[in-house]
Amino acid sequence: MKKIYLTAAVAAAFSLNTMAQSNSFDYNVDRFADIQVLRYKVPGLDGLSLDQKRYVYYLSEAALYGRDILFDQHGKYNLQIRQVLEAIYQNYKGNKNDKEFLALEKYLKQVWFANGIHHHYSTDKFTPEFSQKFFVKQVRALNKKSLPLAKGESVDKFIATISKVIFDPAYMAKRVNQAAGCDLVLTSANNLYEGVTQKEVEDYYNSVKVANDPTPISYGLNAKVVKKNGKVVEQVYKVGGLYGEAIEKIVYNLNKALQYAESDKQRTYIRALIDYYTTGDLKKFDEYSILWAEDTNCVVDFINGFIESYDDPLGMTGAWESIVNFKNQEASHRTQVISENAQWFEDNSPVDARFKKKEVKGVSAKVITAAILAGDAYPATPIGINLPNADWIRASHGSKSVTIENITDAYDEVASGNGLNDEFAYSKAECDLMAKHLTLADKLHTDLHECLGHGSGQLLPGVDPNALLEHGSTLEETRADLFALYYMADAKMLELGIFKDAETYKAEYYKYIMNGLMTQNTRIELGKDIEEAHMRNRKLISEWCYQKGKKDNVIEYVKRDGKTYIRINDYVKLRVLFGDLLAEVQRIKSEGDYQAGKKLVEDYAVKIDRALHKEVLDRYKALDIAPYKGFVNPVYTAVKDAEGNITDVTISYDESYVDQMLRYSRTYSPLTSKK
Ligand code: ZN
Repeated sequence: MKKIYLTAAVAAAFSLNTMAQSNSFDYNVDRFADIQVLRYKVPGLDGLSLDQKRYVYYLSEAALYGRDILFDQHGKYNLQIRQVLEAIYQNYKGNKNDKEFLALEKYLKQVWFANGIHHHYSTDKFTPEFSQKFFVKQVRALNKKSLPLAKGESVDKFIATISKVIFDPAYMAKRVNQAAGCDLVLTSANNLYEGVTQKEVEDYYNSVKVANDPTPISYGLNAKVVKKNGKVVEQVYKVGGLYGEAIEKIVYNLNKALQYAESDKQRTYIRALIDYYTTGDLKKFDEYSILWAEDTNCVVDFINGFIESYDDPLGMTGAWESIVNFKNQEASHRTQVISENAQWFEDNSPVDARFKKKEVKGVSAKVITAAILAGDAYPATPIGINLPNADWIRASHGSKSVTIENITDAYDEVASGNGLNDEFAYSKAECDLMAKHLTLADKLHTDLHECLGHGSGQLLPGVDPNALLEHGSTLEETRADLFALYYMADAKMLELGIFKDAETYKAEYYKYIMNGLMTQNTRIELGKDIEEAHMRNRKLISEWCYQKGKKDNVIEYVKRDGKTYIRINDYVKLRVLFGDLLAEVQRIKSEGDYQAGKKLVEDYAVKIDRALHKEVLDRYKALDIAPYKGFVNPVYTAVKDAEGNITDVTISYDESYVDQMLRYSRTYSPLTSKK
């Protein structure tokens, strides 16, 4: 996985953040089905120079023009369905509180969110809650000119085809089928292959692949595979090729952006990208990717292209996406300060001297602010990215790893309002503590975990790095988390100016333990064990500290009105326990002590108390929190002078989900407007 999503594991980090900041920015935009739509802030935009703003503006335009591509990649009829639903939605003359109309609205919102008729996460086809009769009646009521008929298609034929696609549950049932034993190409409803079997596709690529190529192109990344005159061929995504009308718009705006690039380096890879879009030549995409990966000093940066291949059951074709972003200087400064002090942290850690690195180098990951999300990154979006994907480029030219802080901030803020803290925290004191400190404490926890935790410590000579086998990843995450937890409470945090308040760490300690012992179990079915490595790690740490701290009553379960709460009675002793466990886990890793590692995991990390689990699930269910979230973009407006030059770029946050989707369909629809 090159992309980090707010998955079950990561979500735990956000599940309990109380943010009671009294600003009026409303993060909640819309709620339907299993989805909550949010908006995100773009702090720091005004700190950019005018040229950088112009650069962001044109890159954003280039991003938005790719929207139709993803809809079409996701399914052959998606664009037609989107258009006809939008036409019905906007021309409907009946009662808008009618059940059928409301069901159609919900379905349209789902289609927008998933960029097609299949769920963005499960890839199962949506089940419409309006009737086929209602749908057909509405289509017939539309002016024929507003119907997205294919070339030569009659209205009757259109209705028959689209009705089957929408209403027949067995037809095109799953967008990406990964079930072993079937023809994955034939049974996947996406539009990356047509008229070909899995075997034909595999034979085709085997015939064109160069053997033993140390720098292979990403075969199939930018093409649909079809049969033409009985022969298997690629329809390449490029100017003049498949999706040419959209790619032309993207290229036009990349050319505009080119004038305002920050450096020659940037200009070089934008030209390489344009070259690739123009020719479809994947060698040029590699050239672009290398230049892009090596440009680590830019402020404004972007992704634009056919990137991730999770949507292809064969893992080759890239889903189109774009993210425009700029460096978050303040947050990047935090990771830099920590990295610069890496040796101090290593020298002062509670682990045995034999297991410490003599010379340690911190990794400083860039923290970014997203300015626009598009294609595969919209509305559901990752919180971190690590690209490019080609293994040989990563190995020889490096990769860029970024955290998107304004997106994680938005998740944080929204989590505050969902009632989770009020439900699970022991008292108002803990709620207030988290409200005041958790945002910063959480970020620092991630920084310490990523920049120092994983890189600290050393193996004794001759120890196999994989000695811990199936428990290796759990124990590795445990080690990194403990390193972070231990140091958060250190006076060094105040000395380095990272914390201003000596209490800050307590917010993280409280959330961590409550999450590990209780709230993370909301993501596990009753009766099942904890399996995922990060979740096991959190349970291991929390449970171990609970057990070992029992005699001093460090952590306590308190029952009140039939509900269970966690109380931390001694934060200082809890830190000592974190240090003790860190020393032990580092020993296990350094010595490759598989048996001891296995015992730790089995004793503390896997089992959940069934009664408590049931209670947590019941309390969580009552909160009715949407399992999936996504974002609308802000609206950028280019202020122009009489000659048409951009003199400023302004931002606004007031667009609704429906308005944004309809505006995008109106304005950025190169693939639908031609019909
Ligand atoms: Zn980690």
